[in-house]
Amino acid sequence: MSETVVSKDFIREIINEDINTGKFDGRVMTRFPPEPNGYLHLGHAKSICLNFGVAEEYHGLYNLRFDDTNPVKEDDEFVEGIKRDIQWLGFDWGDRLYFASDYFDQLYEFALQLIRKEKAYVDSLNQEEMRAYRGTPHEPGRNSPHRVRSIEENLNLFKQMQAGEFPDGAHVLRAKIDMAHPNLTMRDPVLYRIRHADHHRTGDRWCVYPMYDFTHCISDSIEGVTHSLCTWEFENNRPLYDWILDELDIYHPQQIEFAPLNLAYTVLSKRLYRPLIEQGILSGWDDPRMPTFAGLRRRGYTPEAIRAFCGRIGVAKKHNLIDIALLEFTIREDLNKRAPRVMGVLDPLKVVITNYSVDKTEKMEAVNNPEDESQGKREVPFTREIHIERNDFMEDPPRKFFRLALGREVRLRYGYYITCTDVIKNDQGRVVELRCTYDPESHGGSTPDGRKVRGTIHWVSAAHALDAEVRLYDRLFNDPEPDTSEDTTLENLLNPHSLQILTGCKLEPGLVDAEPGHIFQFERLGYFCVDTVDSKPGAPIFNRTITLRDTWAKKQKI
Ligand code: ATP
Ligand code: MG
Repeated sequence: MSETVVSKDFIREIINEDINTGKFDGRVMTRFPPEPNGYLHLGHAKSICLNFGVAEEYHGLYNLRFDDTNPVKEDDEFVEGIKRDIQWLGFDWGDRLYFASDYFDQLYEFALQLIRKEKAYVDSLNQEEMRAYRGTPHEPGRNSPHRVRSIEENLNLFKQMQAGEFPDGAHVLRAKIDMAHPNLTMRDPVLYRIRHADHHRTGDRWCVYPMYDFTHCISDSIEGVTHSLCTWEFENNRPLYDWILDELDIYHPQQIEFAPLNLAYTVLSKRLYRPLIEQGILSGWDDPRMPTFAGLRRRGYTPEAIRAFCGRIGVAKKHNLIDIALLEFTIREDLNKRAPRVMGVLDPLKVVITNYSVDKTEKMEAVNNPEDESQGKREVPFTREIHIERNDFMEDPPRKFFRLALGREVRLRYGYYITCTDVIKNDQGRVVELRCTYDPESHGGSTPDGRKVRGTIHWVSAAHALDAEVRLYDRLFNDPEPDTSEDTTLENLLNPHSLQILTGCKLEPGLVDAEPGHIFQFERLGYFCVDTVDSKPGAPIFNRTITLRDTWAKKQKI
């Protein structure tokens, strides 16, 4: 089977090589190890698609493992949210759901083993002292005075730590490696700390909790993971990963680092979003401007598009900034195939067709999706009074403006040709209504005389229109790399136009029953998703997922 897998990136190359050499007996097993302290974002999507995608490709196995070693920040709510998000993305870990906290007993035993081997000791320096003893990248650290404790003393102290005999911070368990190691991570890293806190799964059973570095490699080992893929900030931790497994002499998976997803104009960090949510700048973790799964889903992004995006960006070792246009292109491509077309007017201007009967309603036949015939057709009511988009009319149009203007003719989508005869303004000089005439012979998009009409505009019958709220989103930050900006307060980098709420939009009447979560293409305008939070039965609210074209690129050029 392995021969059929093409090596597309350095990770797949390593796996191919391992399969050829028989390392891990040709097995492939990966894991995704989220900490249940928040919601997943696009960065995690990259990691999931890589970890789980690679395992699927090689007909291997993948585990979902919650890295729940910090009792203070973690919660079942996040565990459930993360599981739901990964399922939504389309991955099924089957019965391989694990929690690092399930290994607390084994981890504790491994810690005792290290103490017995004189490879770990209890230190009683406080945090500040520990920092001072640690040294810097240019100077070696110094041994703690407690480094010489006997095995017996260490065993006793560590057991007392777990028995709850000391307050938080009184002691820690450290690996005994080398305080002069050029890699600071290897200067006797902390393996266990005291935390008198209830854990969301183990309750008050533990007073000591293992650190990430100790937990992660051992969890990988217990589960039989072969390739432990993580982001490159863990590169310095790899020697420690290897040291712990070697000293314990247990099964040894291979850690491989890759570049995290960096997306232009986007922050991918739970930590940085929290204040924006707390200040009410964002409405929650599912604010449609957020790159969280919850936000993207509410905005109308599909799991298929997110997976396609993760496939397109690929995997590399080095940092690179991904253009947000790539994400937007991917969602457009996906929705173009499946989203039914409808007509909706966001900024309505009333048009009265003076030669059309007052009491007449015609049903115009409209195609639901030109990309997919199976979606069929629908009927759209047409009457004497309609709404068109305000910017489809100009008082003083340039020659190349092919839409409506005084004396000019346009085609109504699925309807007649109309010609503007009068422009009605209010006292402030604002255009409030247009008078037009229609050509009864122009139905079906052409006339018997074959005259040319360049523009086609969308419209909605005034008498039938559904009055709706539509929310337009733009990118949240104006800075291409907000999280590396010198300005550390993200509030200063916000795009003030990231949310625009339009009320009184006129939508075709069939949309009254549109179900939350459904996505439509409003012809000529973009893709819109029925909001799952604020919509009411019979009163859908629409979130703009994305415009039809890359309008941002145009804006940037001006
Ligand atoms: P945040 O910084 O937003 O809080 P995190 O890194 O703390 O996120 P974890 O739950 O620790 O979130 O991450 C789970 C896994 O997802 C880790 O293996 C981590 O390397 C990976 N990951 C996190 N951010 C990214 C990213 N931007 N690109 C790719 N993988 C990522
Ligand atoms: Mg993390």
